[in-house]
Amino acid sequence: MFTIQPFFTIIGEAVVYLAIFLFIIAVAVALLTAYSFKTERFIFPDFMLLSITVLESLVKALFRLVRMDDSIVDNVGISLKNKISIRKFRETPMNRRMIFFPQCLRGATCKSNLSQEGLQCTNCGCEIGKAKKSAEALGYKVFIVPGSSFIKRLIRKHKPEAILGVGCMTEVKAGLEMCERLNIRGVGITLEKAGCVSTVLDWDKFYEFIEE
Ligand code: SF4
Repeated sequence: MFTIQPFFTIIGEAVVYLAIFLFIIAVAVALLTAYSFKTERFIFPDFMLLSITVLESLVKALFRLVRMDDSIVDNVGISLKNKISIRKFRETPMNRRMIFFPQCLRGATCKSNLSQEGLQCTNCGCEIGKAKKSAEALGYKVFIVPGSSFIKRLIRKHKPEAILGVGCMTEVKAGLEMCERLNIRGVGITLEKAGCVSTVLDWDKFYEFIEE
């Protein structure tokens, strides 16, 4: 005769085995992650990037629940993703890399015209003009864009293998996630001072990223 007791015993045992299995997986992932960051050799980079994206959402939800500022989570997420991707970014030939600057970073008196390829810089003197010239001399394709629709169109047109995006935290985070979806190696630098005009970038950091 069927009794309910053995049924619950089987379910209970299954739950225990599942918990042990998940614990082992979690420990293995933690060890693999620690090893990867220590040696800067990432064994499953795409999986790690996806895990960071998922974890970011969970941790941010937790921060919001306890009414804490969650911007630190984005900051840490971007810096971890940069660590994972910078090696592949640097292994990509420079002429297969693209750089996107936000238009808010240009000089206040910028007279550049907007075209299908973003703002047409005349190199009249602001830091973007100098940086664009230096990066293009190395082989990069460089664009100053007013928004993400330009970025998507330019990626479709030029088909880069790696991208360096400059922008505010929200833009860089969204850009890195877009790169993950498109299977492009993406790294990002966040602005020191964000806003709609006269934003500030740590240019030394920028040159460290683009030079070998
Ligand atoms: S250098 Fe280029 S981006 Fe900067 S102000 Fe001049 S035209 Fe605008």
